Amino acid sequence: MNDMGSEVLGLETKGVSRRDFIKVCTTAAAAVGLPAWAGEKMAENVAKGRKPSVIWLHFQECTGCTESLLRTSHPDVGALILDLVSVDYHETLFAAAGRQIEEALEKALHENEGKFVLVVEGAIPEKDGGIYCQVGGKKAIDTLNAVAAKAGAIIAIGSCASWGGVPSAAPNPTGATGAPQILKGKTVVTLPGCPANPYNLLGTVLQYATFGTLPALDDLGRPKFAYGRVIHEDCQRRPHFDAGRFAQAFGDEGHRNGYCLYKLGCKGPQTHANCSLLDFCEVPGAWPVGIGHPCVGCTEQGVGFTVPIYTNLPVQNPTAPMAYPAIHPDHTVLGKSALAVGVGSAVVGAIVGAGVVATRKISADSEKTEGKE
Ligand code: SF4
Repeated sequence: MNDMGSEVLGLETKGVSRRDFIKVCTTAAAAVGLPAWAGEKMAENVAKGRKPSVIWLHFQECTGCTESLLRTSHPDVGALILDLVSVDYHETLFAAAGRQIEEALEKALHENEGKFVLVVEGAIPEKDGGIYCQVGGKKAIDTLNAVAAKAGAIIAIGSCASWGGVPSAAPNPTGATGAPQILKGKTVVTLPGCPANPYNLLGTVLQYATFGTLPALDDLGRPKFAYGRVIHEDCQRRPHFDAGRFAQAFGDEGHRNGYCLYKLGCKGPQTHANCSLLDFCEVPGAWPVGIGHPCVGCTEQGVGFTVPIYTNLPVQNPTAPMAYPAIHPDHTVLGKSALAVGVGSAVVGAIVGAGVVATRKISADSEKTEGKE
C-alpha cells in the first residue's frame, strides 16, 4: 500500500504514521483469523474512501464497550480505530442532540440501506411492552427492529446486547434480553464481554466491509476466532494450575506470586473468550486474571452475572497443553511474556499472536521510526 492511506484519512496530521495505519488493519485482520494480506486489503479499501458505515444504537448499558473502544492506551490508535469506520450514528459520540440526531439516523439509514453495519450496545427490555428503555420517545425494541430491518450486518457488542448481561441479572425487573432474542431469524454476531475487546469488533466490521462475509460463528453467534476456546486453555497462570499452585486468599503469598486463581472463584475454565491473547487497550496484562482478579465469566451466558463471583465451577478441558511458556513469578502478575503470547497463539493460530505483538509494539516502533520516515 502506498502513502495514500494515511494521506486520505488525514492521519499524518494527527501523528499517525502509515506504519501504524497498516499495523492496526493487520491486527484487526489477524483478530478475525485472516492473513496479513487481508489486513492490507482492508487498509487499501479504507484508503480509497470505502469506509464501512456503522450505525451504533445504545440501550440498557453502562457505555463501557464504547469507552473501551475510545480508551486505548496509545491515543493515536483510538483515533485510528474511529477513522477506519464511518460512524454515522452514535448517541454517545455525537455532539448533536434532539431532532438533529434523529435526522442523522434517518439520513444514515436512507443513504446506506442494506449496507451498513448495525452495532447494538446494551440490553433491550421486553417487559410491559418494552417501556423501560426509550430514546427520543421511541421504545428500544421498536428502534432495534426498525433499524435491523435495513442493516447489512448486525453485531451485538458486549454481554448486555448479546444476551442481556448485567440488566438481565436476577430478578431482571425490566425483562432485559439481548439483540438475538429480539431479532429471531436474523444472523446476529455476538461479541460478549464486559466490555468486549474493540479489536474483535473492528476485525469483524472490516471483514464484512472488505469481503462481504462474517466470521464463522458458534451456536451463540460468537465468532469462533475469539470464543472458540476457554480462557483456561491459554491463561498465563495455567502452569500453576497444573502444578497445583493456587492463591488461597487475596494478598497471600500465592496471590503475590501470580499463582492460579481457581480457588478464588476463577471462571476461566468455563468461559469462552480470547482475553488472555488480545490485550485490552494495548496494555499488556490488562485483563482480570492479568491483574490478579479471578475471571468472572462475563462472556458466558449463565456464568457471568449469574454465578456468584467467588463460587468455584467444574473445570472443562483439564488436560494440560502441549507446551508452556516460561514462567516466573515476577512476570505473571502483570501479564504474559512475549513467549507466552507466542505459545498460546500457536495453539489458536500464530497469526493472532503476531497481531497482538504488532499492536503492542505500535507505540514503541512509531517513536523509534517516525523521525526517520
Ligand atoms: Fe487461569 Fe483461572 Fe485457569 Fe487458573 S483457573 S489457570 S487463573 S483461567
